[in-house]
Amino acid sequence: MLDSDSKIWLESCFKKNVRFDESMSSHTSLRVGGAADAFVMPEKPEELVELIKWSRQRDIPYIVIGDGTNLLVKDRGIRGIVVVLTKCLKSITKRGMGRDGIIVTALAGARMQALCSFAIKNGLKGMNFAIGIPGTVGGGIMMNAGTVYGSIKGVLDSIKILLPAGHTKIIMRENLNFDYRKLSLKDEVKEVNQGQPVILGACFCLHPSDPQKLKRDAEEILKARKERQPTGLPSAGCFFKNPLSGKTAGELIDLAGLKGKSIGGAETSLKHANFIINRDRASAADILALIELVQETVAKKFNINLEPEVKIVGQ
Ligand SMILES: Cc1cc2nc3c(=O)[nH]c(=O)nc-3n(C[C@H](O)[C@H](O)[C@H](O)COP(=O)(O)OP(=O)(O)OC[C@H]3O[C@@H](n4cnc5c(N)ncnc54)[C@H](O)[C@@H]3O)c2cc1C
Repeated sequence: MLDSDSKIWLESCFKKNVRFDESMSSHTSLRVGGAADAFVMPEKPEELVELIKWSRQRDIPYIVIGDGTNLLVKDRGIRGIVVVLTKCLKSITKRGMGRDGIIVTALAGARMQALCSFAIKNGLKGMNFAIGIPGTVGGGIMMNAGTVYGSIKGVLDSIKILLPAGHTKIIMRENLNFDYRKLSLKDEVKEVNQGQPVILGACFCLHPSDPQKLKRDAEEILKARKERQPTGLPSAGCFFKNPLSGKTAGELIDLAGLKGKSIGGAETSLKHANFIINRDRASAADILALIELVQETVAKKFNINLEPEVKIVGQ
């Protein structure tokens, strides 16, 4: 997919920060997936802008990822460029009063857990819903990551995005199109009709509180998560979205008799049936076959279509 000229340009611009034929199993929490043609880690925001503009001009597809904790990459990998922001957009800063709370700015490559810790240390309430959610701020915004305590949508003030043509735009929360585990930025690329907008960072609206109390609450939330969820084996968290009402996806999978079901090295967890775990060197094909079995069985038994929450990408 990448011709030699493109490889030369990437190498000259990114040096040790570009890798070719890079296995995506090293960059996803499910630990599966074939190789990406190129894997690029810009170190400066200007490098990121240049890369996105260049990819678009050359018609080379790109995908921006965070920590790959909500990604299933197929076995034949990703054509084009995978871009990671964790080396260039990492800062978290407190800004002062905003329209209805204290504004904290977090760049897209910062870890969600770093933002949660920053909020606790600074005595700022609002982020504890996200305690224990792995991944980056950018990934969390794109996924509208959340728990029973809340979701990203509830604490955002605005986001800053980079459009494929190379200019940036700030979008206020009232103009953001959030849904369950989803932010749609489709309207932003109508005119260019090519390439994915990149989330560069966001302003979060938080409220003063007691750091000690926030810390205690966070510890309890983390403890409860550990009791409910499988730890120690590769997964992408809950695989399917919960139906809008009635039983959760995990309960439906359990009732369908598929808790602990395995195909190849992939298995629905005995601890939480909506976690698909990579028990023993699973391939993406194993996981996809298990997903299909779960969807077909649940549809047949309960007439409910389970939709994956995890993004499935690649070939
Ligand atoms: C053990 C475990 C527990 C989990 N628990 C939860 C939970 O409680 N709640 C929850 O909501 N999720 C949970 N998840 C899922 C996952 O952690 C979240 O969805 C997380 O927010 C994804 O962040 P990421 O950086 O890993 O994104 P990635 O998986 O890398 O990417 C997710 C999507 O966002 C896009 N994207 C990422 N960054 C950007 C950017 N800067 N600009 C544009 N697009 C971007 C990617 O292209 C992809 O489509 C869990 C996962 C694991 C492994």
